[in-house]
Amino acid sequence: MASTLLQIENLNKSFGRVQAAVNINLTLEEGVLTSVIGPNGAGKSTLINMLSGSLPADSGRIVFQGMDITNMPIHRRVRLGLSRSFQVVNVFPEMTVFDNIQLPALAVRNRSRRLFGSLANETAVHREVNEILELIGLSAEAGTTASALSHGDERVLEVGIAMAARPKLLFLDEPTAGMNPLERERVLKNIRRLSEQGRTTFVIVEHDMDIVFSLSQRVIVLHYGEVIGDGTTAEVKSNSRVREVYLGEEVAA
Ligand code: ADP
Ligand code: MG
Repeated sequence: MASTLLQIENLNKSFGRVQAAVNINLTLEEGVLTSVIGPNGAGKSTLINMLSGSLPADSGRIVFQGMDITNMPIHRRVRLGLSRSFQVVNVFPEMTVFDNIQLPALAVRNRSRRLFGSLANETAVHREVNEILELIGLSAEAGTTASALSHGDERVLEVGIAMAARPKLLFLDEPTAGMNPLERERVLKNIRRLSEQGRTTFVIVEHDMDIVFSLSQRVIVLHYGEVIGDGTTAEVKSNSRVREVYLGEEVAA
């Protein structure tokens, strides 16, 4: 049985008269690859911003692994293992792909330096970086300067960098923005592989419905700040409220 990672209780957020989050109640389980979908302005980014700590909630509670993090600053959430891709991501264009991933991997290890000798530490970090490179499909580019990567590969690298910080829960808000369909499919397949590996639980905002439905184990649908659908692909596809919102277009089988 999967264990609960995050509990969201009665979360609310308004911008003036716009209700961007309306009484959101959700429980996220470990290991379940989840997509958050909804029309533009539905409140997807607002939700992720509140969960990752860049936006305060008006009311409600966020509990991560039993700890109330509702008012916790971003860096402390990151330390607990809750990250959003771009908060931990910094691609250094002049550095190699390998070094870009090694940097956060070392930073994480340094916290436990007392436990590991520095040489053992270095070997372990190298192994870990290589493992991440393999998982994200960039092993062949290990020595390539980041600035020489294609746009798609650069976004893949961003996910790899985020992974190196060993998050337990990682939010990716439109990780495939600006990619062509081929790159998008590759990135999302890699995310699924990473998810199956079990180290990190992913929550993704993605627009391509075909990809969302083929990739996700759970789909949460937002509309005007409200959760109007939540379940497996099949459940969400047959949800009448969801079909209404999408006019039967994207959701149609
Ligand atoms: P999504 O990511 O689903 O497209 P957002 O969460 O970005 O939607 O936005 C939800 C609603 O909140 C929209 O109506 C948007 O205009 C509004 N909104 C988001 N951020 C702000 C902000 N900083 N100031 C004012 N309104 C905002
Ligand atoms: Mg958004």
